Amino acid sequence: IHDTAPAIPAEIRTWLSREHRLLIDGQWVPAQSGKTFEVTDPATGEVVARVAEGDAADIDRAVKAARRAFESGPWARMTPSARGRLLHRIGDLILEHADELAAIEAIDNGKPKSVAKAADVTLAADMFHYMSGWATKIEGKSIPISALAAPSADYFSVTRPEPVGVVGQIIPWNFPLLMAAWKLAPALTTGCTVVLKVAEETPLSALRLGELLLEAGLPDGVVNIIAGFGETAGAALAAHPDVNKVAFTGSTEVGKLIVKAAAHDLKRVSLELGGKSPNIILPDADLSLAIPGATAAVFFNHGQCCNAGSRLFVHRKLFDQVVEGIAAEAAKIKLGHGLSADTEMGPLVSSVQYERVTGFLDAGRREGARAVCGGQGLGGRGYFVPPTILVDTSPTMKVVREEIFGPVLVATPFDEVDDALIAQANDTIYGLAAGVWGQDAGRAHQVANRLRAGSVWINCYHVFDAALPFGGYKQSGWGREMGQAVLSNYLETKAITQRLG
Ligand code: ADP
Repeated sequence: IHDTAPAIPAEIRTWLSREHRLLIDGQWVPAQSGKTFEVTDPATGEVVARVAEGDAADIDRAVKAARRAFESGPWARMTPSARGRLLHRIGDLILEHADELAAIEAIDNGKPKSVAKAADVTLAADMFHYMSGWATKIEGKSIPISALAAPSADYFSVTRPEPVGVVGQIIPWNFPLLMAAWKLAPALTTGCTVVLKVAEETPLSALRLGELLLEAGLPDGVVNIIAGFGETAGAALAAHPDVNKVAFTGSTEVGKLIVKAAAHDLKRVSLELGGKSPNIILPDADLSLAIPGATAAVFFNHGQCCNAGSRLFVHRKLFDQVVEGIAAEAAKIKLGHGLSADTEMGPLVSSVQYERVTGFLDAGRREGARAVCGGQGLGGRGYFVPPTILVDTSPTMKVVREEIFGPVLVATPFDEVDDALIAQANDTIYGLAAGVWGQDAGRAHQVANRLRAGSVWINCYHVFDAALPFGGYKQSGWGREMGQAVLSNYLETKAITQRLG
């Protein structure tokens, strides 16, 4: 299925072969150490680019540039309206380069180019467009106060939202461009400056975005982009004393390290972490929707979604029909290179992820789970794991409890829509997302209300919108991305009180 990799278009090949540097203070510079690292195509394992490897010294330079840009220079004086127009222009540029960005994403991450174009690139542009409107709408309040301990005068009190300052942002490899957009757009609309540390597996689309940011006219130092490894560049950013806030998306395990690093000087922290999201098919579900819906819920992006609907609960009377239905849908999913026009599922992002996911499949087998389809990696060239459905599971199995971050569904029957079902759905350290499928809207909403998750989709899944807050309960994170809600991640509130007369 994946023996012949399609040719990379000439202009992309030329771009890939360039020397990829770090964006610091408006300039593309090599790492101070002079080091570089290889970027591979996960469908073939071949090296496709070399990128400067930033570490603590580069992070320090980038933070200094971001500080200068925050305190002085054109960005600090730019009107909200001009800031909004700039963000809008960035969104336009992303759309103008949609095809190229999607191809880069397919080569670097492995996802199908058609999916990258329809989802990652479109949503990334929309995030900038949506957030551009907020630049002019970040308002304080006038607040009537009683001043009980100092009542001898009248007072006038207002709140003034202010940008939190220099922000360190650390993003993962599953949606490289989109995660950059989710992070950068709200930080910029609020007037912050940024050091963005991109994932070592997938640095390329964010570096291309950096070129577009300069083309849009973003002043020097407002966004600095560092490619590099987590333990070096990422850790240095999370611990840097002149960073006011860290925004992180990645594993819950690393999220805890970020919190520890940021605790030293009490930086603000927002986190978007792992998940093991329940997807519940109620007895009255319309299976013509629920079967393809549950298939996409877990297999979209090869299961490499923090919000993947990876724990399926199906009413017992429908269980066999649903599992067979999803297996039939899964059998139709065409695996291949992300650049092939008919590919619907690419490889996992790296050999590390391949080993991790197939390790989970081995553990599932050892613990007695049965694979209805898939069940092991394809081996050979590229990091391909086929869609897998595991049944005969128990609530204590590793495959049921831990986030796999691959195309693996665990399916469990239930008998009643009762407290026990809700308890089972909520029996996880995570709380990112959930799905409910049923035709009785009232009952579906009752179930949705009781799920401890930041997003619940009813009769749909993976519906994202720049206007909708997204984030986790419990160990799935702190704070929300997108929507009006994300603004508070990047703002401080100042209360100013004036004595009158
Ligand atoms: P994943 O499991 O999806 O690779 P990680 O949490 O390991 O997620 O990585 C997400 C991002 O966090 C990447 O940019 C990675 O380089 C970075 N990272 C990994 N370890 C650390 C760390 N100790 N400190 C800061 N950032 C880190």
